[in-house]
Amino acid sequence: MDTITPGSKELSDRISDAALKIEDKVIAWRRDIHQNPELSYQEKRTAALAAEHLTKLGIEVKTGVGITGVVGLLKGSKPGGVVALRADMDALPVEEKVDVPFASKAKAQWLGQTVPVMHACGHDAHVAILMGVAEVLAGLREEIAGTVKFLFQPNEEGSYDGRPSGAQSMINDGVFNEPTPTAVFGLHVTSAQASGQIALRPGGLMASADSLKIDIQGRQTHGSSPWRGVDPVVTAAQIILALQTIPSRQLDATLTPSVLTISTVHGGVRANIIPDTLEMQGTIRTHDEAVRADIKRRMEKTAIAIAESQGAKATVSIREGVPVTYNDPPLTHWGTKSLGRGVGEERIRESRPVMGAEDFSILAQKVPGMFFFLGVTPPDENPREAPANHSPLFHIHEPALKYGVRALSYLAIDYLKRTP
Ligand SMILES: [Zn+2]
Ligand SMILES: [Zn+2]
Repeated sequence: MDTITPGSKELSDRISDAALKIEDKVIAWRRDIHQNPELSYQEKRTAALAAEHLTKLGIEVKTGVGITGVVGLLKGSKPGGVVALRADMDALPVEEKVDVPFASKAKAQWLGQTVPVMHACGHDAHVAILMGVAEVLAGLREEIAGTVKFLFQPNEEGSYDGRPSGAQSMINDGVFNEPTPTAVFGLHVTSAQASGQIALRPGGLMASADSLKIDIQGRQTHGSSPWRGVDPVVTAAQIILALQTIPSRQLDATLTPSVLTISTVHGGVRANIIPDTLEMQGTIRTHDEAVRADIKRRMEKTAIAIAESQGAKATVSIREGVPVTYNDPPLTHWGTKSLGRGVGEERIRESRPVMGAEDFSILAQKVPGMFFFLGVTPPDENPREAPANHSPLFHIHEPALKYGVRALSYLAIDYLKRTP
């Protein structure tokens, strides 16, 4: 991989100039999208904005891919391979508390309720950046050896209504067919890095996320005489503690991080009744697909065996969420150097594994993928203390956006230069 000719310095300068020229436009798009946020699978206005922009640039556009998704196809002047770039479009049911003139006041319907809506995860920035990349690349067609596929993806955050994630929906609608890319790149803005810094790592970058539910069947009785029934509350307490020994005592702590959280416990109605049943919910996060499978096996065994020892019955159900966001190692070793050429090596950092999850992972299961973080915390704030993504106070230092435009634009052209 290292024998491939690096992209020319001149190209990175041209991209940098082009990104600077449209910086104000990218910021204006971001503010417009920020002020008009849309929840998962409701991204009609955002999708129309992206589609209209791509069409104006002479890019072939398909809408309604994966319900509200948009796909653009930009053909370069030279023949070559295909690379995909992805931005997610959805906002969150969060009430904005950031004091900016373009703060969101939007409300929408969410699972039967009226909720405030905010781009608290920064997907407004992702859409604006990718629209900027489309404009930069449309102006550099003579440098493009092949085709760039733009994916404006809905529902990254999860719609909680039984529909698949946006990435899965787009795949179901054939987003990776005709033409099929050989790599996919994407970025996520983060409060955890300073403005304009880029952070990534090969292998597991973000976690797999599965939800779990444990139902414990005991036998209801009077709170004064537990021996007359089977207590699901004490059984649950033992299960909760034992589950914690899976990551801490049973898995090799030096290999890869994992987290098992029980986050809800519901059972019982009054102080003097031992309830019949109890329900717990939680989440499992891992950075390795083998560990992911292993942890589930151990969990089930632990819960069932402990319940049995108490005369109760545990039923464990796991709802599969997104897989590990896995950065293809050869692609990422190459891509990290390419990013260094595109935006300057001093901007590139190695990321720690992050326990949050991303449905980009589903795209990266189909073709080799590389995902990276773009820092957006203003220079006068500490990234360790800045309000995190999903906070009502999450905010973006907008000068960082141009580095996202430069990074993805350069990666796309550089990648196509290296593929026959
Ligand atoms: Zn998010
Ligand atoms: Zn996000």
